[in-house]
Amino acid sequence: MEFNLSGFSTENTELETKGPFKVLILGGGPTGLSAALYAARAELNPVVMTGMQLGGQVAITHIVENYPGFPEGVEGPKLTELFREQAERFGAVLEYDTAVEVDFSERPFRVKGYNAEYLAESVIIATGANPRYLQVPGEQELTGRGVSYCGTCDGWFFKGKDVVVVGGGDSAIEEGLFLTRYATSVTVIHRRDELRAGAILQRRAFANPKMKFIWDTVVKEVKGEDKVNGVVLENIKTGETYEHETDGVFIFIGHIPNTQMFEGVLDMEDGTLDVNRRMETKIPGVFAAGEAADNHFKQVITSAGMGAAAAMQANKWLEEVQDDEAVTA
Ligand code: NAP
Repeated sequence: MEFNLSGFSTENTELETKGPFKVLILGGGPTGLSAALYAARAELNPVVMTGMQLGGQVAITHIVENYPGFPEGVEGPKLTELFREQAERFGAVLEYDTAVEVDFSERPFRVKGYNAEYLAESVIIATGANPRYLQVPGEQELTGRGVSYCGTCDGWFFKGKDVVVVGGGDSAIEEGLFLTRYATSVTVIHRRDELRAGAILQRRAFANPKMKFIWDTVVKEVKGEDKVNGVVLENIKTGETYEHETDGVFIFIGHIPNTQMFEGVLDMEDGTLDVNRRMETKIPGVFAAGEAADNHFKQVITSAGMGAAAAMQANKWLEEVQDDEAVTA
């Protein structure tokens, strides 16, 4: 694909133009929907490009137990629905479209999606993050045939089967525990000899008779023809490699910020967008929040908080710009 100087593809695709909007929010996860709620209540009539999956990662999370206000926990899809309902109640508009290219060289900013091109006076980037891949032979070929990145989505297919979970963080343990509902055994394969996951999850995991652990070990290959039948493992302390039979491989080894489309446009470090404490990127009027701009906290509550902060700052910035333009007019 070729790009002209404005950053847009020179491919001739006729897209409908929508806007200009006061605030365009890229991403419909907790960050984007919280930004939408705050922008809507500031009467900015925000438009949210939801991306592929409304709710983002939380929409495929079985249960969220640490979002305040839900003492018994709340199912990820339910929380997504509540976020959406609340944002729409105050006038946020959802566009089921995914941002693919941006041109922030002048205002109104332009964002191209698959369905339309959107013009906006300010943009809040809330594009979140995607699962990190193991990048071993067999992984890609067997995705959907035993390799999965979502226990909540695919667990049911593994009723009475043995599965492995790769990773030692909260996601791996939480999803692994969820998988014990279906699977006969869930073997966690972790590259170290202690988990990164929080204490409560660890306690539950060690107490669950279906959970097993293989320490200091990495997956070198996923085996199988039409479906997964095993993994090749390497003990990184002894160097020993061996095959471990399994029906499913669930991979939870972290996430990569979904920020590729901002390369060369905004500053970033390892894919995480640089923002100041006010969620401002280096381009005035472009804000970023949630996992696109945070590689440290990565919680639903912190992402939602950052989304709200970005919307408040966008509101303030729009007021200032309006005042300046009124003075110079
Ligand atoms: P994470 O905390 O970054 O953990 C990733 C895990 O994968 C780590 O154990 C890491 O090993 C391992 N890993 C990374 N790259 C690997 C590789 N190439 N090969 C093998 N193993 C690899 O990611 P996460 O579990 O997805 O969690 C992301 C964030 O969401 C965290 O802040 C987490 O607290 C939060 N979260 C919270 C909850 C909850 O509170 N209920 C639920 C889910 C997620 P090392 O430990 O050796 O680095």
